[in-house]
Amino acid sequence: MSFDVLGLSAELLRAVGEQGYTQPTPIQSKTIPAILAGKDIMACAQTGTGKTAGFTLPLLQRLGAKPAGKGRRPVRALVLTPTRELAAQVAESVETYGRHMPLSSTVVFGGVKINPQIDRLRRGVDILVATPGRLLDHVGQKTLDLSQIEILVLDEADRMLDMGFIHDIRRVLALLPGNSVRQNLLFSATFSDEIKQLAHRLLNQPELIEVARHNKTADRIRQIVYPVDKSRKRELLSHMIGSQNWQQVLVFTRTKHGANRLAQQLEHDGLVAAAIHGNKSQGARTRALAGFKSGKVKVLVATDIAARGLDIDQLPHVVNYELPNVSEDYIHRIGRTGRAGNEGEAISLVCVDEHKLLRDIERLLKREIPKTVLPGYDPDPSIKAEPIQNGRNNKQGHRTRQHTEGRHRRKPSAKTSGTGRGSGAKPVSKHARHQTGNSHAKPEHRRH
Ligand code: AMP
Repeated sequence: MSFDVLGLSAELLRAVGEQGYTQPTPIQSKTIPAILAGKDIMACAQTGTGKTAGFTLPLLQRLGAKPAGKGRRPVRALVLTPTRELAAQVAESVETYGRHMPLSSTVVFGGVKINPQIDRLRRGVDILVATPGRLLDHVGQKTLDLSQIEILVLDEADRMLDMGFIHDIRRVLALLPGNSVRQNLLFSATFSDEIKQLAHRLLNQPELIEVARHNKTADRIRQIVYPVDKSRKRELLSHMIGSQNWQQVLVFTRTKHGANRLAQQLEHDGLVAAAIHGNKSQGARTRALAGFKSGKVKVLVATDIAARGLDIDQLPHVVNYELPNVSEDYIHRIGRTGRAGNEGEAISLVCVDEHKLLRDIERLLKREIPKTVLPGYDPDPSIKAEPIQNGRNNKQGHRTRQHTEGRHRRKPSAKTSGTGRGSGAKPVSKHARHQTGNSHAKPEHRRH
């Protein structure tokens, strides 16, 4: 199918052509006509499917069809995303696809100065991409009026709920004009009961769009597990990068401390590496990502949250240095490779402690991941499994709720009490620290 048949304007087709896209992805061929027809949609789309263009292109066309009046322009379309990185990337897409249209856009997120954002908003924008916290800061300071919103997009809605943003989302919804005059587009990789409830409140007779079966990993990603002892993972990783001459590899660790340590060790091994996680300043995160994209940084070591929303074209290798505690995160991680039709390889280095996590992941995927023992790296059978060290007393395989940067965090349950700033947080007891044995190894905090 070609883009021409979807009903997009000449300006948008030109921008799409300039990106080198020759045909729409499956999600785009479904969402574009539905959104152009003014329908609400509830789309289940994994990351890397081309969903951003899937909502951005028709959104631009609908706004362009009804140009704003003269003078100060009210914000007419709002895209909410869970993370700063995703917000920045969506905003870039809006700029790219809208470059031949007289519409203006900007992005607001936390962690950077608010005044330049206020200035930009004051000058008037048609399309605003935002993370929930900073958006509400602007509303609180009366630097933003959301009463003229015509189109609302919730991107990666499952992650937003996961990060504790449900109250912020409700507050934002209360500031918008009524459902009946607004077009609502909800994108989510998974559909929990919570998402369905939100969709029920938000969407008017939505068209349901699903392209990849729930939790199905893209077939073009080659997955492989290398069993290896924990103490030899770093050596094996350096060996793989060096011997196969990998130029760009994204490596996942479970904790921020682990990400820092691994990046430093790889540097000692002579590889240019950088770590990206929630404790890094926005500037450091942007620099690390820019270095990685340009090829200067070969190895980017990331935690799950920081990697969310990273869009790196043709990323060939993703390595799970440690398996995630939450099986769904495995799917998000490996979705960083094999994007938009490219081939990709997802490698997991799995030690004896992680066998249960691996089984959980395989259960979710409904298939086994092929395993290969590399000569010289055979696991020592005398090593016994130990509890996974997360720096808190969560059990293996259970999600550790980290909502410290969501404003209204869910109350931690007895099983999943968290630490950090904000209400409802209980400090980790000395006992728990002692049990897990590593007070530095804090899992990533959610940020917006
Ligand atoms: P997304 O799922 O929106 O994060 O998009 C994943 C990647 O696919 C991005 O790098 C886009 O630039 C790229 N992309 C989007 N649409 C197309 C298309 N029709 N053909 C080729 N690449 C695309």
